[in-house]
Amino acid sequence: MNGGSIHLIKLFGIPIRIHVSWLIIFVLVTWTLAAGYFPSQYPHWAPLLYWVVGLITSFCFFASVLIHEIAHSVVAVSRGMKVRDIILFVFGGVSELGEEPGSAATEFLMAVVGPATSFLLSLLAAGLWLLTQHVNEPIGAIFYYLALINVMLAIFNMIPGFPLDGGRIFRSILWGITGDLDKATRWAVGLGIAIAWGLIGLGIVMLLFGQINGLWFALIGWFLKNAAQSTFDRTRLKRMLQGVPVHQVMNAGCAIVAPETSIGTVIQDLILARGIRCVPVAQGDQLLGLITVHNARAVPQEQWNSVQVRDVMVPASAVKAIGPDNDLWTAMEEMTEEGVNQLPVIQNGRLLGMVGRDALMGYLRMRAELGV
Ligand SMILES: [Zn+2]
Repeated sequence: MNGGSIHLIKLFGIPIRIHVSWLIIFVLVTWTLAAGYFPSQYPHWAPLLYWVVGLITSFCFFASVLIHEIAHSVVAVSRGMKVRDIILFVFGGVSELGEEPGSAATEFLMAVVGPATSFLLSLLAAGLWLLTQHVNEPIGAIFYYLALINVMLAIFNMIPGFPLDGGRIFRSILWGITGDLDKATRWAVGLGIAIAWGLIGLGIVMLLFGQINGLWFALIGWFLKNAAQSTFDRTRLKRMLQGVPVHQVMNAGCAIVAPETSIGTVIQDLILARGIRCVPVAQGDQLLGLITVHNARAVPQEQWNSVQVRDVMVPASAVKAIGPDNDLWTAMEEMTEEGVNQLPVIQNGRLLGMVGRDALMGYLRMRAELGV
């Protein structure tokens, strides 16, 4: 489990994860197919057959979404980009990119290949439906449904609201024309939020007129609005942190301890007394390692005076550091990537200070207060 998602498999070196919401949707889709769709289309089947066909169809639907996402990732990797992982969500999937696409052309290709793949899958399923419909009705029914659902996946993902594929295509075109990624992102996200509200409104109107399908429109709209909003927040955060050098907000006067200091001294004088969660261990200005609350907790209290920090610290070789001239956005991304709250600031092997999430937040709060 990680952020509400479960690791499934690894393909082309990319971890594939499913969001817990997918399990709920899987049950829901299977149930809708077995209890609603198939009985209404094929009333003469045996009751058990509806569930078998429903389950198989649900699995194939799941696989279709996965193939769509893999298509994105294959293009991303072939264009030299890093794909952190693929997460399958309620309404499709999200490929988590470790970075923004390097060019408008790369983003365009990456985005367009997803719906194109879904269209091809739909055509393939339609062909197989034509071949099988008179040979075996249940198998034909599965292919018919897959042809339908894949074309719907393609159309849904072509909605031009960021972060859907259509929104990415829209952004890449704007980006290509204006040459300004930030402006293109703002426009694409704005359109995404407008479309999301449109879908929510449409869903509510449909519900008011007794159309239960309106619930789906409202849900999809809600999902899109949240996704667009979080992209917007991230873009704004990036704009505020980009270009501000780390040395401007780092804590240069941070507490440094010598390697032979006892862990008890660090716990009592620094962690407990001053609330410092991460203490650099250094000899002169050479960083040897870091002591975190996590390391300190691993030492039983009766050994606090006998254990030295050098025995339990995270060695410098395993510590991710940042340079004083890197910007705050880079620091933020590094911390997120490493799952840490602080980074030592190092130049030519010399420890200059520490920079933490609290310092970044303090900087953002101060800017908000000044209204700049
Ligand atoms: Zn896609």
